[in-house]
Amino acid sequence: MRVGILGAGQLGRMIALAGYPLGIDCIFLGGGQDSPAGQVSRILPGGLDDNAQLDALAAQSDVVTFEFENVPVDALQRAAGGAPVHPSVDALAAGQDRLEEKRLLRSAGIPTAPYVAVSEAADLGRAEAKLGWPQVLKARRLGYDGKSQRIVHSTAELAAAWSELNRVPSIAEGWVRFEREVSLIGVRGAGGQTAFYPLSENVHTQGILSTTVAPYDDPDLQLTAEAWLSALMNRFDYRGVLTVEFFHTDAGLVANEIAPRVHNSGHWTIEGAETSQFENHLRGVLGLPLGSTATRGHAAMLNLIARMPDPTAILTIPGAHLHDYGKQPRPGRKLGHCTLLRPTRTEALKALNQLKSATT
Ligand code: AMP
Repeated sequence: MRVGILGAGQLGRMIALAGYPLGIDCIFLGGGQDSPAGQVSRILPGGLDDNAQLDALAAQSDVVTFEFENVPVDALQRAAGGAPVHPSVDALAAGQDRLEEKRLLRSAGIPTAPYVAVSEAADLGRAEAKLGWPQVLKARRLGYDGKSQRIVHSTAELAAAWSELNRVPSIAEGWVRFEREVSLIGVRGAGGQTAFYPLSENVHTQGILSTTVAPYDDPDLQLTAEAWLSALMNRFDYRGVLTVEFFHTDAGLVANEIAPRVHNSGHWTIEGAETSQFENHLRGVLGLPLGSTATRGHAAMLNLIARMPDPTAILTIPGAHLHDYGKQPRPGRKLGHCTLLRPTRTEALKALNQLKSATT
């Protein structure tokens, strides 16, 4: 079995590593030999705009998938000419435009932050009346990890922020007063089989995921979120992993973002679940039976951003798991993560503090 993957970052690397025990071979396009995926798997030369290489990848693959959501739709469409593609081109496209994403969520009955589409100067005035302050201005396309977004407190700041974004089509979102941020990761396989991990609780710093603790044990929220993900997955006849990030507010869950792929908030599943999100993504796209999402205790995951710490400090903690993505350090860049499993949530929270002290 061979899976062709567009994109070659750490998510691709962890998909490839999950494939090895099952004899699943992953080949990549969209990075160099030194990319996180290129270091552990075969990678074709060229970029995602190289039609000959897209054709070559599809010709060698039983199925083609992708590992980041800004893969050009044209590239996935081209690959679809030579092999089945999962998740579908439509699912990829829906997650690439924040306005389409909001419309999709609302049409499925899933609450979102109030928003105003900003495509001309006149829209800026409408935002104040509809959303109040503060607001978050986000470019509709190509934003991730808090990039291409600004928090604003007045129409003047909103106008200035939109200029800073070069007046690209954007949305202004009302500020959501949340108690916590959580995400749900689900997987759908052949014949509509689904499986869901428990909700994960996430903390972001400057728009970048910093920590995850799971499971976030709330059976009512879990059921609600699973029903919503099922509705989205059915709409696209989805195959593979789908993630939705939520704000947990007084009024319940409010969806923030859809990612049609494996997700940073599910890295704990490598050690903390019977089957990792990466293996389940491969199973889903290949039409294999899905694996159990049962947990093996409570997991605490810490992202390693901008600088890799001394590995010894982490590895001396009993039970610590360290993942180094093989990337060059850069401000704001995710370079690795570490995970600890503990029998209770209280112990997992303590473990998170241990990880934090070991990495600063
Ligand atoms: P995003 O790129 O949309 O995932 O946003 C990154 C992070 O910014 C989120 O995880 C939140 O912590 C924060 N954020 C984004 N949108 C809002 C909002 N409308 N209200 C409050 N916080 C937000």
